[in-house]
This record gives sequence, structure tokens and C-alpha cells, in this order.
Amino acid sequence: MKCHICDSILIRSWCDRLWLIPGNQQEFHYFNCSECGTVFCDPLPKGLELAAYYKDHFNYSWFEEHLPFKKIQAAHRWQRIASLFHKYNIRQGRLLDVGCGHGLFLSHAQRARWSTVGIDYQSLATRHAREKLGLEVVEGDLRTVILEDRLKASQFDFVTAWHCLEHVPDPLNYLEEITMVLGPSGKVLIAVPNAEALGMKLMREDWIWCQPPYVHVTHFTEKSLALLARRSGLNILATWTRDTWDAHPFFDVYVAPRMVRLLNRLRRLSTRAAFWLEEGMRLACYTASCPNHWLLGRERTDRLGSELLLLAERIQPNAK
Ligand SMILES: [Zn+2]
Repeated sequence: MKCHICDSILIRSWCDRLWLIPGNQQEFHYFNCSECGTVFCDPLPKGLELAAYYKDHFNYSWFEEHLPFKKIQAAHRWQRIASLFHKYNIRQGRLLDVGCGHGLFLSHAQRARWSTVGIDYQSLATRHAREKLGLEVVEGDLRTVILEDRLKASQFDFVTAWHCLEHVPDPLNYLEEITMVLGPSGKVLIAVPNAEALGMKLMREDWIWCQPPYVHVTHFTEKSLALLARRSGLNILATWTRDTWDAHPFFDVYVAPRMVRLLNRLRRLSTRAAFWLEEGMRLACYTASCPNHWLLGRERTDRLGSELLLLAERIQPNAK
């Protein structure tokens, strides 16, 4: 076995737990690369297996239930990213959101007068984006829609991919496809769960974003994500981490375990009240960690945040 990011053979078992994928009698296990730190599942799923899994077993209702919070998240994602446009010379133009889902992030970009397109597999989420938000959404995988000329190469000024790369079996291929659609001075923002996050270190396989293999195939470190970006023909402008409302170490490690009894009692009276209390506490923990950004306009400089972000640009053909 070797690491599918850096090709190292220095691989060790990462945890004892074995996952049995619904509809598949094989057991899956997480391994860790000693060279680049990536945590990945073995065996790696094949594209068709993954498509069947998402079609038959993936729980999409979570997104519907959490839509009010996803809307807040999308607004904050846009606000935090837009604050970087001047610093990194991201010019307003055409924006592609890869894995756009319900189109919540995309709609903020459109409101800010960007020309927007989303791409995702056909689902209730893409229907929401098209019919309720009136967004332009291309359905299918990136390679196919480029080959079929439904999306043209080299045309986008900014491409965003929020939490997509950890789901795909061949992330190098996926990032190369993203690079193909970037225009001459186009920039790309990749966000993934951070394999070096405090939550992952403290809770390991119980961390909220350490999801079963097939949902998350690869957990990247800053080193492995940067390596992948460079191999895809990208020049890295910045990497940083931050905590999010749905993966916050203070809530996950300290608050959630102390709320279990209370939430269970409340659930017997009202599942809705328990839901709003839990999610409200998540949001409160996230809000309490934001003043550094709101007041000082800064992102944190340590590498312990739950979400790992990478901003890069396409390497110019004549660049030395
Ligand atoms: Zn590796």
C-alpha cells in the first residue's frame, strides 16, 4: 500500500475501528501516511461504487433539517472570503462553485454582482438552487461537463470548492479538472476538513468530521493539500485554518458531552426544542470565536482549526 497523495510507502494503521459500508460487505479502515500526514480509507472506493453509495445510502435529510444554519454559514463564508479579494487580487468576474449543493454560497456571490455558475450531481439540492434561487447550475461531474462542452475550459476568474475534495477517490484528478476551468489569472479556493485539527487530535475517529470512509475518503493536512495543489498546476497564495459552526472543538469536546443528558430529556418532550438548543449552542460557540476576524480582519495563524483552506492561482504557461 502507498499514500495516494505523496506516494510514500510509510503507511500505518490510524485507528482500530472498521467500518462496514451499507450495501457493501467489505470492511473499511483508516490509514495514515507518515510522510505527508494524510489520513485515508482503504480500500479506496471506485467512482461507480461511490455514486451508488450517494444515491442509495447517503443521508441528505441532514442538509434539509439544518438549512437555516447552512444559510448563516453561507453568508459568513462569503463575507470572510470577500474580505480577501483585494489582498490577493481576485477580480470580480465569473465564479464557479464546485459541489454547489443548495446554491446558498453561490447566491451570495450573485448578489455581490458576480456572474455565477454552480456544478454538482443532480439531486434535490441542485433543484433547490435552480428553482428556488434561480441560479445557473450544471449537473454532472466536472470532467464530463467539460468534455460535453457544457462548461468551457479556462473561463472562470474564481473557483470555489467547499468540502468536496475529501469525498472523491482521486483528488489529484479532481483538482486538475478544477485547474482546467480557471482563466489565465484565475484563483481557486479549496476548503476541506483539517486532519491536524484540534478536534481530530483530541477525539480521533469520534470527531464530527472524521466521517466513515465513503463519506470522507481523504483527510488532508496542510502539507498534503499543498502538494496536491502544486501537482495540479497551481501556485499557492495562502493556506490557513479556522473553526466552523458545525465543527467547533469547544462545542464538540467540552459542551456536547455535558449536554447529552439534558438533550435526551428535552428530546422526550420536544425533538424540535432539543434540535434548536443544540444547534444554537453550536452557533454561540462559533460566534464567540469570531471577534479576531470581525474586529481585526485576521484569520488565525495556527494550524489547529477544523477547516483547512487553500487559496491558489493557475501557474501561467510562461512562468519560470
Ligand atoms: Zn503521503
